[in-house]
Amino acid sequence: MPFHDILGQEDVKRLLQNALRKDAVSHAYLFTGPSGSGQMKTALMFAQAIFCTRLKDDACGECLECRKVEHGNHPDLTLLAPDGASIKIDQIRELQRMFSYRSEGVNPKIYIIEGADKMTVQAANSLLKFLEEPPAPAVGILISDNSSSLLPTIQSRTQRIPFSPLHPDIMLQALAGEGVPVALARCAVSLTSGLEGCRELLAQNWFAEMRNLVLQLAKESMGKGSTAVATAGQKLAKTGLGEHLDTLFSMFHLWFKDMLYFLYRRHESIVFIDQLDFISRHARERSTEQWIAYMEFAAESKRKLRSNANAALCLEQFLIRLEG
Ligand SMILES: [Zn+2]
Repeated sequence: MPFHDILGQEDVKRLLQNALRKDAVSHAYLFTGPSGSGQMKTALMFAQAIFCTRLKDDACGECLECRKVEHGNHPDLTLLAPDGASIKIDQIRELQRMFSYRSEGVNPKIYIIEGADKMTVQAANSLLKFLEEPPAPAVGILISDNSSSLLPTIQSRTQRIPFSPLHPDIMLQALAGEGVPVALARCAVSLTSGLEGCRELLAQNWFAEMRNLVLQLAKESMGKGSTAVATAGQKLAKTGLGEHLDTLFSMFHLWFKDMLYFLYRRHESIVFIDQLDFISRHARERSTEQWIAYMEFAAESKRKLRSNANAALCLEQFLIRLEG
């Protein structure tokens, strides 16, 4: 898997490949930016390129080293992720123990810490000295979508590599190439900030189902004597959709915004593009102000959900407000 396979992130790729070419690979990196922008893929790619015996600034994907990384069994590559809610000091100690002896070959040892901002203070402090003076040649790659909450001392000891969100068009193109239906792809792209995030969302079997439910409820709530509350009750009881109400509210938000896009003749921005016919027939049944108010209802419901309000009640109140 060469660097070329990573979509976008041209600056990141240039920087890392330059470091490889100039033998100037730093001993600690901090990959930041919105989650799902390809940080993990790039970190693995970088590790592979460091180990690769054929190419200096890329991974051939074929040599023994490259294949070991690809199969997840390279002895000099360690992945660390939060154990539950946090990365604990024991995990960092174990890492240090493994790094206390040199690798067998000429390679440095590489560790990738996913969700690095979730290190406990003890874990972070324990990592500090190790970051600067690993006992054996090492390259650390810390990944965080919330790097500002990392200890400043950790931030200052790592080279910051900012990832930028991928342009939606690039993501849509990639997903279309993978055979994802356009309407689903547009929805996923609007809800996440990176291609990996999109793929993860699309792989959830509740995702398409949730989109259908939102469409059903949205359409029912447009009619008089709405049955949306009853429908929602039935559907949520039967399926596991109730656990993903935050996504439901986000989708509703997109749906109302689509109405505005239609009214403002920005059809190219419409997310629920397969519903253009319905949207064109109903967008004028509410005023611009009403659609904006609905968007605010959706955002508000999501906030309530986050502050641990009763989920089913949250949805019911939301649907009732749409009827008003
Ligand atoms: Zn190789």
